[in-house]
Amino acid sequence: MRWHVLGSASGLTVANRFHSAYLLEDAGKFLLIDAGGGTSRALAKLEKPLLPIEAVLISHTHPDHAAGLPLLLQFMMMSKRTAPLDIFLPAFYKDFFAEQLYRFYIFPEKWPFPIRIHALEKTFDFWNSLRVTLFPTGHLSAAADLARLHGVGAESYGFRFEAGGSTFIYTSDILSVEAISPGIPAADWLMIEGAHTSLEEICRLAVEKKIDHVRVTHIPPELEGQERSLKEIVQKYGLQDFKLTWDGEIIEW
Ligand SMILES: [Zn+2]
Repeated sequence: MRWHVLGSASGLTVANRFHSAYLLEDAGKFLLIDAGGGTSRALAKLEKPLLPIEAVLISHTHPDHAAGLPLLLQFMMMSKRTAPLDIFLPAFYKDFFAEQLYRFYIFPEKWPFPIRIHALEKTFDFWNSLRVTLFPTGHLSAAADLARLHGVGAESYGFRFEAGGSTFIYTSDILSVEAISPGIPAADWLMIEGAHTSLEEICRLAVEKKIDHVRVTHIPPELEGQERSLKEIVQKYGLQDFKLTWDGEIIEW
């Protein structure tokens, strides 16, 4: 399996990183995980922009994780895609998104490929080789009252990917390390966001869960250029492979 980092910015738009988007690849087949602003451009920068993405999984509907979806559909249409696309969304957003597509003039009657919209389930299997399991991140709990007032959900998930005896965890956005810790088992890889926690807390989680390989993503500007302090913290916890990720990183796991 390969994990491609397309976008590793935090919620703040910056010049050197796109917003959250990742590709999970197995032998030329692809899933897209999150589709924040810039996803279409990040895909267009790859050698083969017409990647056969079979499905899109959205962790939560903050714009930096989901706002790239309509433009992605237009990009696929203009790239002459004909294969169906499955989109998995937080349950409350499923019907709203289907309706929203009409306002973007994306009509199923004339669209060149079927767009199949589903609610996220607790566990998915893809390609007979990959199991995906969701865990709650608590990221939107502070917005729950207002969400309820306006008739929308406050769901936010991280994803655990298991294939060939190896486990890769992508947290997406979190409330805190404490909030996600119960949903995180021992794993080989952890890709965790760095905007709502500290490097020290991430190190402690990696040690506790015996995770050897850690990448920090969703990187706020204040984390940039802190390689020296990062090195000191990581050494203190005895971690060998702990880095800030970058747009374009490819991880074999
Ligand atoms: Zn968020």
